[in-house]
Parts: sequence; structure tokens; C-alpha cells
Amino acid sequence: MSDKRPPHTTTDSGIPAPSDEHSLSAGPNGPLLLQDHYLIQKMAQFNRERVPERVVHARGYGAHGFFEVTEDVTEWTSAAFLNQVGKKTDVFARFSTVAGELGSADTVRDPRGFALKFYTEQGNYDLVGNNTPVFFVRDPSKFSDFIHSQKRMGDSGLRSNDAQWDFWSLSPESYHQVSFLMSDRGTPRTLRNMNGYGSHTFMWINKGGERSWVKYHFKTEQGVENFTRQEAAAMVGEDVDFHRRDLYDTLARGQEAVWRLEMQIMPFEAAADYRFNPFDLTKVWPHSDYEPITVGRLVLNRNPENFFAEVEQAAFEPANMVPGIGPSPDRMLLGRLFSYPDTHRYRIGPNYLQLPINRPQSPVHTYNKDGAMRYEHNGGAPVYAPNSFGGPAADPSRYIEASWDATGEIVRTAQELHSEDDDYGQPGSLYREVLSETDRANLTSNLIDHLSDGVEHDVQVRAVEHWYKVDAELGASLAGGLGLGAVQSNGASAATKAARA
Ligand code: NDP
Repeated sequence: MSDKRPPHTTTDSGIPAPSDEHSLSAGPNGPLLLQDHYLIQKMAQFNRERVPERVVHARGYGAHGFFEVTEDVTEWTSAAFLNQVGKKTDVFARFSTVAGELGSADTVRDPRGFALKFYTEQGNYDLVGNNTPVFFVRDPSKFSDFIHSQKRMGDSGLRSNDAQWDFWSLSPESYHQVSFLMSDRGTPRTLRNMNGYGSHTFMWINKGGERSWVKYHFKTEQGVENFTRQEAAAMVGEDVDFHRRDLYDTLARGQEAVWRLEMQIMPFEAAADYRFNPFDLTKVWPHSDYEPITVGRLVLNRNPENFFAEVEQAAFEPANMVPGIGPSPDRMLLGRLFSYPDTHRYRIGPNYLQLPINRPQSPVHTYNKDGAMRYEHNGGAPVYAPNSFGGPAADPSRYIEASWDATGEIVRTAQELHSEDDDYGQPGSLYREVLSETDRANLTSNLIDHLSDGVEHDVQVRAVEHWYKVDAELGASLAGGLGLGAVQSNGASAATKAARA
């Protein structure tokens, strides 16, 4: 024990606190008094300790580190933080489950968020990815429906496998991602043992204005390791905080967690007649078409000092793209450009970008002002642009607009199909050509387990019809395992026809 006396407690206004033990009362046995400002402040502040939890990705853990460029990529992008081999940029990363609430367990089956904030000299660059290279839907209008199907039901407050399979089997574009989710990659062993993917297609623009389409792959240098379904379930009972604890303990021991960034780069003109729609978030670019090239490494080496201030208040937004990097026609990406900052304004307030974890390390000169909890102000500086009083003026030469050609009637329709676009080919390749025999057996068993748990017969039948189209052997194994008898492998069953009607 230290001899040094601790500082005296104060109110939040810095006034010495009357007591850490006793409320103010009228006599030792009498009522408490409204004039006990200290008690009232404590109770009122406590009632307001929580901000609303994220609608998705509520449960997460984060860490600080850096990104280091290891290869010259100036041929493709002018982004300043990528313009020199050896250059390091501070990064904050947040990993999360998707559907579970703040207090849920770490090792449940779910995709994992893999969100990165690069504090670059040109402002913050956020890459808000997952541990899978694809996603369940390709149009943002289906996103909230998809999430509702994964979360709790209105009546029981319980999650429902029936709702999940109902949605998935009516949205066959989800089957590629469901293949990842139901494989053992849906239950990563630790956060350090999984890859991260930007998932969307983005644009890189070089100094000369030449454009390329790119995909980001962060490959774990710890190796991919997963739990089986049984191991993941056992860990829920043993330690709900297992992933958070593992990362915290690793960094606290002085060890690092490292990922190698590899990029796939497609020439701008190649997109138009590529065999897959390169902007469809349910598809990958096969490595044999665009071989990933190493670009740099992501190193996490420091735990947050305050979970709430850093992990909970961290606000990532895919719209934060620095000059030299831009969006693409990927509709999910375009939807996310709006939805992330919108949810942050609701969840932590309009001035969330002034919080230390979100504040850029580069200077900010903006005409946005005031609002709840704003604490950095421009004093008497001009509050409008243009002005003749020396206020900041936009310099378009510093900003590169990421653009592509767009013409046509305003329509509500799917994007045009490319020659090999379908919903079954890529999950079929994953099943037949990538998964090991053990992976395939575990995928099949995980699917049977999930589909057996409260899923109605008609939904099971419709779900298995799609698996037949992914792979006939897989479809037959599932039909056998679920006792469905002869599910048709081609054409629609009565259940599917009814659902489409
Ligand atoms: P490749 O054989 O060139 O690459 C397959 C990739 O699959 C591997 O490089 C690895 O990427 C990943 N992988 C390995 N084991 C598993 C597993 N158990 N579960 C999930 N992914 C695994 O094939 P293609 O590029 O032609 O892709 C074939 C299929 O592989 C795709 O349809 C897709 O389902 C899957 N895949 C493809 C990726 C891509 O970006 N092309 C990325 C991941 C999966 P990694 O090191 O990134 O894990």
C-alpha cells in the first residue's frame, strides 16, 4: 500500500464531495433531501452511462497499432499514407460479432466485423470489413430485412432459425456467405486467427488520374484457426469473453497480432466484360483472375486504456475515404456510405468526430458548427464560405473525385448480369475445390444442426433445394440428414412456388 494519500473526491464540477458513504438525510433515520446535489448527480449520471448499443456489431473489442507499407503501390494509388515503402500510419481496429447484443458471447456462429481506422495525414481512412470476402445481400434495400431475420422476433424476443432460413432461402444470393457462415470459419478460434476482407470493390486512383478497381485482403500471420461447432458452444459456457480476453492478454503480454495486406487489382476497363459482376458483394474475384499482391502489414500492439471511450465510442464509416481511394458501383457500399455516419449521429451524437478515438490526427478546417456536446469551436472565424475574411477555402487540386460513367433511365432493377453470374457457382467452387474433406463434413453437419433447430418443414425443403444447386452431393447429404426424402434438385418445389407466388 502506498503512503501517498489519494486525491479527494469531487463532484463533476470539481467541488469537494461531502462523503463517499452517506447520503444527506433529515436525522439519522429520516428521509433523504433533494438538496443532496452530490447524490443526485451520482444517480443521474449513472442512469445515463450507456449510449444505445449498435443495431449490428454491438459486441466488439478493439486495439491500437499501425499499418506499414511494404511494397510500392504508387502505380495504382496516390493515397499519401500508401506513397512510400516503410511508411507507418496509426490504426485503430475493432472486431465484432454481428447479430449478438453487447452482453452476448464471443464464440457464437456469426460473421466477424473487421473495422479499421487509419489516422492518415490526409484525414481518417476507414475500411469497415468483415472476416468473409462476401455478404448475404447485394442491395441495401434488403439489409434491414436481413438483419431483422437474424435478430430477435417481435413476439418471443427469441432468435429464430426459421426466420433466418426463411429469409436466406428466399434470397439465394445469400448462399455464398451462408456457406462461409456455416463452415468452421463461422466460429473463429480467436480474433487473431481470422482473415479480414474489405469485401467491397473500391477504386484506387493514381497521381495521373488512372483508375483501378481493388479488393483488400488482410491475411492473418497467426494462421487461420477455427473452433468446431462443439468447441465454440463449449466455450460459450466456459468464457463468454474468450475472444476479447485472448486479444487483450496477447497484447498485454507484449505480443503483436499481425496481418499481411494483399490487394487484388483490376484495370478500370476490365470491369465491363469481366465474367462476374465485379461490384456484386456476394461474389469474389477468383485469385486465378486477379492474383493478390502484397502491399503492407497491419500490426496491433496496444490495448485500449478505456473500453467505453475507445471501443464503444469508436465510429467507423466507409464514406471516410482519402484522396486516391474511392467507392465503386457496389450498391451495398453506396448504401453504407450513408448509413454509418447516420447511425453514429443517432448513437453518440452529431459531434462524434470530435471524440479522441474518432478525431483525425490531421488538421480539420470545417464550416460545420455547434450542436450537442461540441467542444472545439472556431472562435470568431468566419462561419460561411465563400468569405473574404481568411476562412478556409476548398482546394479541388487536393481532392480526386472517384468517378465512373453512368447513364440510363432511372429504374428499380438488378444490376446487369455478367456471363457467369449466378448465385450457386461460387459457393459450389468453395465446397468442391477449396474445402477439405473435414471442412465439408463439418459444413454439412453444421447445416443439418442449424436447419434441425426450429425450422419448419417447408422452409427446410426450400433451403435444401438451393443447396442442391450449390452442389448435388451436399444437397443430397442435407436431405438425408434432415429426413426430407426426395427433395427436387431442379426446378422449384411446391414450397418455393408458393413463396414466390
Ligand atoms: P483459390 O483456390 O485461388 O482460393 C481459394 C481461397 O479460399 C484461398 O486462397 C483461401 O483464401 C480461401 N480458403 C481456404 N480455405 C478456406 C475455407 N476453409 N473456407 C473458406 N475459404 C477458404 O480459389 P478462387 O479464388 O477461385 O475462389 C474459389 C472459392 O474460394 C470462391 O468461390 C470463394 O468461395 C472462396 N474464397 C475465395 C476468395 C477470393 O478472394 N478469391 C477468398 C476466400 C475464399 P484466404 O487466404 O483469403 O482465406
